Amino acid sequence: MEKGRIIKLTGGLYTVENDLKERKNLKARGVFRHRNLSPKVGDIVEYDDEFITKVFDRENDLVRPPVANVDQAILINAAKEPDFSYYLLDRFLVLIEKENITPVIVVSKTDLLSPTEFDTLREGLAYYEQFYDVYYVNVKDAQTFVPLKALLKDKVSVFAGQTGAGKSSLLNGLDIKLQLETGEISKALGRGRHTTRHSELIHVYDGLVADTPGFSKLDFYDIDIDLLPELYIDFFKLGDHCKFRACTHINEPKCAVKKAVEDQVIPKQRYDNYRLIYDEIKHQKKKY
Ligand code: ZN
Repeated sequence: MEKGRIIKLTGGLYTVENDLKERKNLKARGVFRHRNLSPKVGDIVEYDDEFITKVFDRENDLVRPPVANVDQAILINAAKEPDFSYYLLDRFLVLIEKENITPVIVVSKTDLLSPTEFDTLREGLAYYEQFYDVYYVNVKDAQTFVPLKALLKDKVSVFAGQTGAGKSSLLNGLDIKLQLETGEISKALGRGRHTTRHSELIHVYDGLVADTPGFSKLDFYDIDIDLLPELYIDFFKLGDHCKFRACTHINEPKCAVKKAVEDQVIPKQRYDNYRLIYDEIKHQKKKY
């Protein structure tokens, strides 16, 4: 019995790759269908010459793109054009945390900022650096991409970022570098193939990258309001110090989060975005 990872699914055939990068095209045992468990791209599986015989428990399970066991979501934020948005950043972080995936914050197009603007942005993001890795890249300075290569190594990554200015800023920022080395991914990202059900993991810098971006639907329909305080991980860490155990950090007295905002330990903007997201989830109509 061999062990490997599913990296591609086409027409009912799974391409499985082992540690030595040896590939096999396999079918899934019918038994999976009976148990309503379809193997998916990203799954760690056991297999023989013909069939996938076992699917190991998933660390996480993304729907769009349909990939399991994602190590990190590389969240691309334009520094400018469009303007950097803490609100979008905070929304994305909630969505990524909800999937139990580690977010990595990448700020692209930093060459479009004046030195003062860049300083201001870095000061603002210093807060986030306590909880997340933050990288700054720009296409005019190839050196800025070097740390990202190391970041991708031995990991399964999915790219995420704004849609509107999304694909193009994604490509203009980070991915131009990737584009050069892997034509495939840039083509896939550029064409917005995320509308199809196709999904594939592609080798990039010794890691695997989903060929379609994730988290393009920036809504919170499947997030329960009670879960939100846990998805703001900085608030979650402070939550122990709130008077009430299930503190939502909205109206409760003796709230450690609100105190930290008052003391300017937590940026007010981060808290304001939390309230906006909280209200949005609270008032959204449940879609089933
Ligand atoms: Zn609180």
